[in-house]
Amino acid sequence: MNLDKLKKILKDEKSYRLSQIKKAIFIDLINDFSLISSLPKELREKLNNELDLKIKGCISKSEKTDTQKALISLSDGAQIESVLMRYENGRNTVCVSCQVGCPMNCSFCLTGQMGFKRNLDTFEIIEQVLYFQRLLKKENQTVKNIVFMGMGEPMLNYDNVINAIKILNDKNAFNIGARKISISTCGIVDGINKLADENIQSNLAISLHAPGDEIRTKIMPINKKDNIKSILGAVDNYIKKTNRKVMFEYALIKGINDSEKNAQELSKIMNKKLYMVNLIKYNNTGIYKSPEREVIKKFKDVLIKNGINVTERYRFGEEINAACGQLATKS
Ligand code: SAH
Repeated sequence: MNLDKLKKILKDEKSYRLSQIKKAIFIDLINDFSLISSLPKELREKLNNELDLKIKGCISKSEKTDTQKALISLSDGAQIESVLMRYENGRNTVCVSCQVGCPMNCSFCLTGQMGFKRNLDTFEIIEQVLYFQRLLKKENQTVKNIVFMGMGEPMLNYDNVINAIKILNDKNAFNIGARKISISTCGIVDGINKLADENIQSNLAISLHAPGDEIRTKIMPINKKDNIKSILGAVDNYIKKTNRKVMFEYALIKGINDSEKNAQELSKIMNKKLYMVNLIKYNNTGIYKSPEREVIKKFKDVLIKNGINVTERYRFGEEINAACGQLATKS
């Protein structure tokens, strides 16, 4: 499916046709245009001839059954992964990819190691949510939250990500509130500044992973361009303009960023009122080791003692390689 092509086909039709079709695709979840009975037969046929609503995906399921990873094949043969995380109270969250691969090359992340192939278009981002929405329909459930934490860097595919968020938001499409949508970035300052002016109430997360530039540059090459000081400057501007708190993700990696000294250093640069820290245990990607339970606890305790707002991320899907940093397709 391609949204531009759809709009082109509809350019001589009455304007309400687009709304009818959007509703059929995103709310009624049809996968065949001939099922839209409100459209003239000719138009249905034309749409079916030129556009394909089928999504080529296959699922691997975690033994704990709280996580399902989908491998989705795109029209040019490129493949991406998306993950559905199921919490108890039906709070289904989809982790979407925005690029095929990733150009950022963070040393701990598998996606970076597969290199960067291309940006996803708006529908390719949306279709990941649609895939799981269709799946959940069979159980009378829906997708409630979206996190842009799959493959790729959202700020480097900015326009398509924003357009996708608009469709996710759209009452005549997915109707998922902006506050239920989180964008995670490795800290692209231009993108954070742009987002601050966007007037979208989505959540912003920064992949920080280090308390200072020396460590961060070693594990995240982007830090040479956008260092911690410039990121925090952009974040403060974002908070001033949007009045939203910002989440800092910190993956604890054994011997790299997990000492008590690192926790003290991190405490010094975190704003107690406006920042939140989310600790993640490094998911094994074969490069580093993850710290022991006590080390994580000590790190967390230092932050708490220093008055920092800190949470620990529940790890989903490690056993099917669907956890943070483990998304990479072998083609
Ligand atoms: N490019 C964006 C979106 C990716 S989100 C970003 O960097 O934020 C994926 C999250 O998982 C990021 O916070 C990333 O740094 C983190 N991550 C990557 N590899 C990881 C690993 N092996 N263990 C834990 N977290 C990891």
